[in-house]
Amino acid sequence: TTFESMCLDMRIIKAVKKIGYEHPTLIQAKSIPLSLQGKDILAKARTGSGKTAAYTIPIVQKILMAKQNTKIPSSKGAGVKAVILVPTKELCEQVQQNLLQICFYCTHLINVVHLGSEQSVDEQRGMLRDVPDIIISTPTRLVNHLKNQNIKLDMSLEMLVIDEADLVLSYGYQEDIQTIKSFLPKVCQGFLMSATLTPQVDELKKLILHTPAILRL
Ligand code: AMP
Repeated sequence: TTFESMCLDMRIIKAVKKIGYEHPTLIQAKSIPLSLQGKDILAKARTGSGKTAAYTIPIVQKILMAKQNTKIPSSKGAGVKAVILVPTKELCEQVQQNLLQICFYCTHLINVVHLGSEQSVDEQRGMLRDVPDIIISTPTRLVNHLKNQNIKLDMSLEMLVIDEADLVLSYGYQEDIQTIKSFLPKVCQGFLMSATLTPQVDELKKLILHTPAILRL
C-alpha cells in the first residue's frame, strides 16, 4: 500500500512526504482506509507502530473534506470535530506535534488545541473560545471543561480517539470516560488504540465503539 493509493488530500500526502514517511506502516495501511469508510477501529498497537498517524491522518482528511464541501472558513467551523484522549500531558504534546506535522500544508484550515499544558482550567478557557476543530486532552481535564461549559461536543463531534487505552484505564480514568460519553452525540466514530487488549479495554470497547474493525498487529 502507498499513501497515494488511499485517496488522501494532496496536502496530507505532501506533508507525510515532508515528514519522511515513505510508506504507511502496517497499522496505517489497515486503519486509514477503514476509518475513511466510517468504521470504528479497535487496534492493538504499541508505540513505534505508527499508531498516532493511523488516526491523525483520517481525522485531518475528514475535516478537510467537510470544509471543502461546506466552504466553512477556518475557526468559524460548526464546532469541535475530533477529540483525542490520552493518559498523560506529555502524550498530549506529542500528539499535538504529530498533528501539526500532518497539517503543515493546511494549518490555516485546521485549528488544533491541546489541553495538556500547565495552565489551569480557567486559563485554558480562552483557548477554547475560538472553537478548535481538534482537541487533545487527558480525560479529567476534558471533563472539567465540559462541566464548566467551556466547550460543547454534543452537536458537532464526529470522531473520538482513546489512545493508549490500557494506560488510560490503569490510571483510573474510567469514570471520566463515562462522563465524557454523556456529553457526546449519540453517533460518533470511535478509535481505541491499546498496547494490550485486557478485559477492561473490552468494556471500554462496548461503551465507545459500534461494531468495530479489530486490528491485531
Ligand atoms: P507512534 O507509534 O505513533 O508513536 O510512532 C512512532 C514513530 O514512527 C514516530 O516517530 C513517527 O514519526 C514514526 N512514523 C509514523 N508513521 C511512519 C511511517 N509511515 N513511516 C516512517 N515513520 C513513521
